[in-house]
Amino acid sequence: MDIGRRSVLKMSVVAGLGLMAPPLGLMRAWATPGRDGMAGTKTDAEWKAVTDGEWKTRLTREQYDVLRREATERPFSNAYHHSKTPGAYHCAGCDLKLFSSDTKYDSRTGWPSFWEPVSSDVVGTKTDFKLIYPRTEVHCARCVGHLGHIFKDGPPPTGLRYCINSAALSFHPA
Ligand SMILES: [Zn+2]
Repeated sequence: MDIGRRSVLKMSVVAGLGLMAPPLGLMRAWATPGRDGMAGTKTDAEWKAVTDGEWKTRLTREQYDVLRREATERPFSNAYHHSKTPGAYHCAGCDLKLFSSDTKYDSRTGWPSFWEPVSSDVVGTKTDFKLIYPRTEVHCARCVGHLGHIFKDGPPPTGLRYCINSAALSFHPA
């Protein structure tokens, strides 16, 4: 508990220094791949209050672009699109468990696809008009990190396809 508290304080100091740095963007040190930060040390409200500067220190560049800027990674060259390994897919931002390999299927789209999240309250949605037609955007309910989109061409029993960026996920083998 004490160590956790001190670590949080340290993170705040780092984030504070980040704000005072010259606005060059050159001195920014992106997190190393695979790092899932200090999950479990924040309340839900604290996760929603994480600043953009802190996200930059917590996430890799690719994770940041997807989770915090709603970028879409390239199909087929991402980490989990073809994975069939049993386990759980957590949010790469806050480590909330989002999807199970039990509901993962091969949509042949080149992105990890699931027909259902582990529970309806771990994700939120909004309508996205980035393309000509409206799409249903899906994000992590805890840190509000962008995950991907939901389409209605999925398999039974839901008929839904949660099309998720690998960069938004961290995999925990069963
Ligand atoms: Zn999250």
